[in-house]
Amino acid sequence: TDIAYLSVNNIEVIYDHVILVLKGISLQVPQGKIVALLGANGAGKSTTLKAISTLLRNERGDITKGDITFRGQRVDHLTPNELVKRGLSQVMEGRHCFGHLTVEENLLTGAYTRSLSRSELKAELEKVYHYFPRLRERRNSQAGYTSGGEQQMCAIGRALMAKPSMILLDEPSMGIAPQLVEEIFEIVKSLNVQEKVSFLLAEQNTNVALRYADFGYILENGRVVMEGEAKDLSSNEDVKEFYLGVS
Ligand code: ATP
Repeated sequence: TDIAYLSVNNIEVIYDHVILVLKGISLQVPQGKIVALLGANGAGKSTTLKAISTLLRNERGDITKGDITFRGQRVDHLTPNELVKRGLSQVMEGRHCFGHLTVEENLLTGAYTRSLSRSELKAELEKVYHYFPRLRERRNSQAGYTSGGEQQMCAIGRALMAKPSMILLDEPSMGIAPQLVEEIFEIVKSLNVQEKVSFLLAEQNTNVALRYADFGYILENGRVVMEGEAKDLSSNEDVKEFYLGVS
């Protein structure tokens, strides 16, 4: 069934009580899908993800209209912890790993919402290392000294330790070597297929996002201006001209 797993319904977001940034955004992420949020710098992609993950409050942002439901229940008044416990985790832009901790210590912090025994923790780590062999290699390195791509992997791995059914991923390709970008998207795809994790990802790299996503929304100036199956968007003439750099 295609019942929306995450449903954002006509939300309006205002920063600092005056700056209207999202002007009525609606979007759906069905269970088991990868959905891409596309658009130029400043279109409102990060703000949309932060509205869902409640991180907006840290930046003096408010949802002033609309609502958000996850698995049929309102979630726009929860704390970040409650959201993670319900299965929704966010990986923020700029891969927030703790630089002074090792890669493995970072991963372990991701399990803080669960009370796992030592052996369960070990099994969860193994699962992350199975998907991210690079993290296994770097497990004892200080995260701050690993590459940008490895830090992005570490941030996704840490989110996985909370056993999410959906991950919000902000600009996974940002500042990362092209080859590693492909590697990360391949891993996202296998997590989606094998672990049934749904993804809502914001990307300025339209090309790579549409190759891996099932569905896409294009944002401009705080509004959804186009939406569709990823394959339809990638063959759309306007999308090609304005977002894929071909005409
Ligand atoms: P980017 O790729 O730069 O993150 P984006 O599509 O994710 O772009 P947002 O970061 O959501 O866009 O920004 C949307 C608009 O909101 C921009 O005009 C930005 O300047 C503004 N904005 C973002 N954060 C704040 C904030 N904390 N206070 C005020 N305005 C903000």
